[in-house]
Amino acid sequence: MKLKDNFVLITGAAQGIGRIIAIGMAKEGAHIGVADINIEKAEATAEEIKSLGVKSLPIKIDVSKSEEIALAFDRFIQEFGRIDVLVNNAGITKDTLIIRMKEEDWDLVLNINLKGVFLCSKEALKLMTKQQYGKIINISSVVAFIGNPGQANYSASKAGIVGLTKSIAKEYATRGIRANAIAPGFIQTAMTEGLPEKVKEEMKRLIPLGYFGEPQDVTNVAIFLASKESDYITGQVIHVNGGMYM
Ligand code: NAP
Repeated sequence: MKLKDNFVLITGAAQGIGRIIAIGMAKEGAHIGVADINIEKAEATAEEIKSLGVKSLPIKIDVSKSEEIALAFDRFIQEFGRIDVLVNNAGITKDTLIIRMKEEDWDLVLNINLKGVFLCSKEALKLMTKQQYGKIINISSVVAFIGNPGQANYSASKAGIVGLTKSIAKEYATRGIRANAIAPGFIQTAMTEGLPEKVKEEMKRLIPLGYFGEPQDVTNVAIFLASKESDYITGQVIHVNGGMYM
């Protein structure tokens, strides 16, 4: 087991990629804090994880709100005592062309997708510094590197995550803390299933491997980055996109 008795907090873990990362890490022996804005779904996911024989705690969190983050981390530490891995996975889209994009659509996406990563990482770094150990894994996106019409806010937030990840990696390397990002391409989840078929077909043509990814493809890399196997890797972005960007 690659993560035996590691304590892991994953944001946006109630469903989608975060949920599959949570289940994948639990299968590797980790105890999981399922932190999500949707507490009912987080509770259901935490129950599912417990059935795998590890501990799991559902935690209500809105990653754009520093007071909620502080409470969520307090709760996690009360229950588990330490944090080995933080996965900053929570993210949203609010797509429209720039000309139609309202200032509040920009702020909402940036506050959840980018400020949320900063605030949660800050909280985790306080604890990881005391431990002199920790791994932070941030979920970026392929659009951080190639842009996407209709996703100016989302692409900017995901590109911001890359700079933030590298800065954390440099600031905290001497404290035994590693920070890396994963940039998924098109992964089949609730976030992507609502797209029109025509858009999906166009996207598929841009993928050299010719098919969409699954949350498990992202999970495999997240487990590697959380494990000791990746100890000499920090400040990197691992692309999981079927060759869509290379
Ligand atoms: P998803 O199915 O929509 O899941 C995201 C989860 O985050 C949901 O449970 C959502 O709750 C929760 N959430 C939303 N706002 C939150 C907040 N303020 N605080 C805490 N939790 C919040 O999305 P996904 O496809 O699994 O995506 C997960 C991550 O991968 C995101 O960062 C996304 O940008 C990134 N990503 C996805 C793809 C893809 O193709 N799917 C590609 C590249 C990157 P609600 O459902 O209640 O809002």
